[in-house]
Amino acid sequence: MKLQEHINCINPAILNEAKIYMQSEEFVSLKSLGYYYEGFMIYENKILFPEVVVSNKNEIQKYSCDCRSKNAVCVHIAAMFLGIEIMIQAGCADYHEAVKT
Ligand SMILES: [Zn+2]
Repeated sequence: MKLQEHINCINPAILNEAKIYMQSEEFVSLKSLGYYYEGFMIYENKILFPEVVVSNKNEIQKYSCDCRSKNAVCVHIAAMFLGIEIMIQAGCADYHEAVKT
């Protein structure tokens, strides 16, 4: 499934929380190495390193997060998806650089 389709399937409340979270200092970094994306974020005093793998056709291959959320897509993965979309559009391997452009 394409990245955009995944984003469209996310619960709107989670998506909204993710958008706010991404603007906080707790969303420390989101970088890519080719099709592999790794986040570094703090949530409820825990450090998380969510991972997402995207194909060259912008399809999500797999994703994981070690938080304890019971949602199919947690706020961290939702934030990763939104950030990856911006990075792909900007052609930039670093989320915080991509949002500056
Ligand atoms: Zn999570």
